[in-house]
Amino acid sequence: MQEDSPVQNENTPDTTTEQPRRTRRRNRTIVLGAAALVALGLGGVAVATTGGDRPAPTAVSLDAQARAEADSRADRSTRESTAPDSPSATPSASPTVSPSASASPTPTKTATTKPKPVAKKTTKPTPAWVNPMPGASITSCFGQRWGTLHAGIDLALPSGTPIHAAAAGTVTQAGDASDGYGNSVFIDHGNGYLTHYAHQSRIAVTVGQKVKAGQVIGYEGSTGDSTGPHLHFEVHQGMWNQIDPAPFMRARGVDLGC
Ligand SMILES: [Zn+2]
Repeated sequence: MQEDSPVQNENTPDTTTEQPRRTRRRNRTIVLGAAALVALGLGGVAVATTGGDRPAPTAVSLDAQARAEADSRADRSTRESTAPDSPSATPSASPTVSPSASASPTPTKTATTKPKPVAKKTTKPTPAWVNPMPGASITSCFGQRWGTLHAGIDLALPSGTPIHAAAAGTVTQAGDASDGYGNSVFIDHGNGYLTHYAHQSRIAVTVGQKVKAGQVIGYEGSTGDSTGPHLHFEVHQGMWNQIDPAPFMRARGVDLGC
């Protein structure tokens, strides 16, 4: 009889007002009552062991009282605990953990690894512009010659000497050019300038190929209008607008001797 009293008291105000809410609350009360019973069962064991001789009566009287108390306590605690706990626990835990864990190691790693490229710079990278055929004799400079403009610089070494790209770029022509150039290669350096390498005995690159400064693009020869093995080297400021290679290359750290 006493066991039912807390349930009835709790439901009394509801009966006059809301019908569906009453059934809901009753279901909850039953569940909570069951939970309280489980808790009391554990409590009863504790009482029984400490009480010694009188386990049965103490357990029964406690059962009614404690259930009523536990019922209301549990009802309150579940409402109070479930509501604020889940929103506060989830956001506070994840933002504090993940940013501190991921953010701190990443900047320190990049900061410590950045000094390394400085050491690489001391290992003498290939300059932006290089001599296309180092050690060659200059046999003709840019300028008027025999009534016509000699539009490049002639560099002479034995036939078959490797010819190097003066700078990085993309090969735009590679083959037998007209106008007496023989086997010639054009490299577009992407800054409005092109370089042209004529009279080659053999070409080592293909159109569209990207080359680095100093890369071998072919071998010196005497193809086309040529009186002997030499490299005819031109600089174009825009295709077929030849300029004097000597000051151009000198401004880029390469002395071709003209
Ligand atoms: Zn020439």
